[in-house]
Amino acid sequence: MKVRAVVLAALGGAAVAVGVMTAFAQKEYKSGIVFPEPAVVTPGKTDNDPPSDAIVLFDGKDLSKWNNGDKWEVKDGYAVVQKSDITTKDSFGDYQLHVEFATPEKVVGTGQGRGNSGVFLANRYEVQVLDSFGNTTYFDGQCASLYKQTPPMVNACKKPGEWQTYEIVFTAPRFDESVKETKVLKPGYVTVIHNGVVVQNHFELLGNTFYDRPPAYEKHPVKQPIRLQNHGNPVRYRNIWLREIKPLEGKKPEAKQPEEKKQ
Ligand code: MG
Repeated sequence: MKVRAVVLAALGGAAVAVGVMTAFAQKEYKSGIVFPEPAVVTPGKTDNDPPSDAIVLFDGKDLSKWNNGDKWEVKDGYAVVQKSDITTKDSFGDYQLHVEFATPEKVVGTGQGRGNSGVFLANRYEVQVLDSFGNTTYFDGQCASLYKQTPPMVNACKKPGEWQTYEIVFTAPRFDESVKETKVLKPGYVTVIHNGVVVQNHFELLGNTFYDRPPAYEKHPVKQPIRLQNHGNPVRYRNIWLREIKPLEGKKPEAKQPEEKKQ
């Protein structure tokens, strides 16, 4: 037994020694890419509040940042869909968009006629807003679908009248500016988190979301307004803000050329 204990102790000591040597032998990996320092953003008090770098599009008081905003009723910190679509006065390219909405508490209609509105990214790609709580319709037209392109992966709808959130990440498509026709260089992408649940994961847009024809791209500038749809139902909106996003790009320093040998 004594011998065995000594052997085990010796083996243990050897393992520790190897570990220490390995630690000394490890060399830290560095990419060599020089990144700018990420800007400091102060988050909101809750995940629904705008972070410090957000552009607030509707804070519950007025729709002055929207064309036709005067057509909608604003009261008690929210806006009610009426009469026409509303469109932001400013245009945006790639962004994170926070939207809160509530379909009417008093349930009226069925299918597409129940709590219908929509968030149109770049003024033409609709993330559907619909009362899909126990209300069936075609799946690629239900709440959180990319209209007539793909259903949400799951149905995360709350009850009619309850406030719901969309956290949308949108990457605008890029088109070839040097040609007259529509030539897509990069398609658009949409991620949607509905009430904290991922329902669209970097979905590749197929083009404009039409009602009466297949999706197709129509060339447009990167920056476009955001549009909220009037579909005849008194859907409510509140707390709308966005953050423009762009990748933090680093640069890899050029490799030094070996000096020429002096003659
Ligand atoms: Mg709609």
